[in-house]
Amino acid sequence: MKVTFPHLGSMHIFCKAIAETAGIPYIVPPETSRKTLTLGALHSNECICLPFKMILGNFIEALQKGADTIVMVGSGPPCRLGLYDLVQKVILEDMGLHYRWLTIPPRLTWRAIWKNHEETKELRKELSAKNIFLFPYGLWMGWKKMMACEALEKLAMKVRPREISKGETQRRWRQALSWVDGAKTPKTLEGAVKKGKTLLQEMEQDHSRIPFKVAIVGELYTVMDPHINRGVEQKLGELGVEVTRTSWFSTHILRSVRQNKANQASERIRFFEASKAYLDYDVGAECNVSIGEAILRSKEGYDGVVHLMPFACMPETTASGILNKVGKDWDIPILTLILDEQEIEGRIQTLLEAFVEMLEWKKGVA
Ligand code: SF4
Repeated sequence: MKVTFPHLGSMHIFCKAIAETAGIPYIVPPETSRKTLTLGALHSNECICLPFKMILGNFIEALQKGADTIVMVGSGPPCRLGLYDLVQKVILEDMGLHYRWLTIPPRLTWRAIWKNHEETKELRKELSAKNIFLFPYGLWMGWKKMMACEALEKLAMKVRPREISKGETQRRWRQALSWVDGAKTPKTLEGAVKKGKTLLQEMEQDHSRIPFKVAIVGELYTVMDPHINRGVEQKLGELGVEVTRTSWFSTHILRSVRQNKANQASERIRFFEASKAYLDYDVGAECNVSIGEAILRSKEGYDGVVHLMPFACMPETTASGILNKVGKDWDIPILTLILDEQEIEGRIQTLLEAFVEMLEWKKGVA
């Protein structure tokens, strides 16, 4: 058995840590590239959303490298994410690729646990007693690594707009992530996080700069994965913007297991409540949250909002129409970027530069 998983943001570090610690053989898909997207797009319906194409591309590349077991998160209606696994299975079978599939349920219900139990019946036969014994420890180690990756990314978002040498934060952040990825024990992980934080904090910075504050909202994969959003977070940071976002893998996992009612979930509820001024029902996925967050960020004094959505994403298409009105009503500039498989890096850079110039003009600093 060789398990594989999507290469989204730093999620592969989390999944790899679980498999590695539990001693389960795995294959990390190659880092998402244009080839990944081309492969995914070639075998998908052109109208399907971008994350579907990226993830399919990851799976094709991993299966071609020898993986035989796919682990994928599930979801419920109304978003298409709930159907990703069904459609991707058909496509991979049509391509003649052989694999087994394991869906991680979006909610820990008894029905989901039973389905998971049935799906893993055959797989469990290939696991040794040691693998099963170490699995909870693997989960814990994976979770620790995920939290470490997110803490480092949050720090990078803070220091990037003040960097003196353009691109230095990105270089140091990637180095810090590789230390986290390579840590094999809780002690070495702790050391890797400390070293990574110091590496970022000790970078030469201009502390007199007061960066613009911009919130990134939108479809969760598009917000969290720099390959899907073409490095929007980095591009904005290098233009002198301090970026914040509330979509993290950990917050979505905690939401699934209903464990973060007191903190991140309450923030989500706050955004949802705020969106009721424009929407009196739940559209699905992140639609209501995107709208509510834009309103609350305006109240909190943010300079702008960047809204990310894949082409043809139903919930975020609804949000983008409403966000036009939110921007006017709450006097906050909102830039919606629609992402698909086309080569649009240059266009995105130009749009972000124009957006930041507009923020400067609005603040009277141009
Ligand atoms: S939220 Fe949008 S992009 Fe994401 S899976 Fe659903 S339809 Fe696709």
